[in-house]
Amino acid sequence: MYNEIIMVVRMRSTRSHTANRRSHFALKESAFSVCGQCGGAVFPHTVCRSCGHYRGRQVLNLEGKLAKKERKRKEKEKVLGKGGGG
Ligand SMILES: [Zn+2]
Repeated sequence: MYNEIIMVVRMRSTRSHTANRRSHFALKESAFSVCGQCGGAVFPHTVCRSCGHYRGRQVLNLEGKLAKKERKRKEKEKVLGKGGGG
């Protein structure tokens, strides 16, 4: 007779409980600092993405990397062009 399984909700979460929990969920605006070299926005303790400087020193050779990328792209286009036309 008493072998039925009855679920009991023990902890009712009220609207105010939910709101209280969610009061800490807001996102903060991310902190930026200004690059001393190019004046762009950078994350603190991070190399500048646009000029490759960190604390006034050139760390990344972005121009060389860009040139390499461009060269690779052109080579790829060449190969693709040959294959497509062939
Ligand atoms: Zn910079």
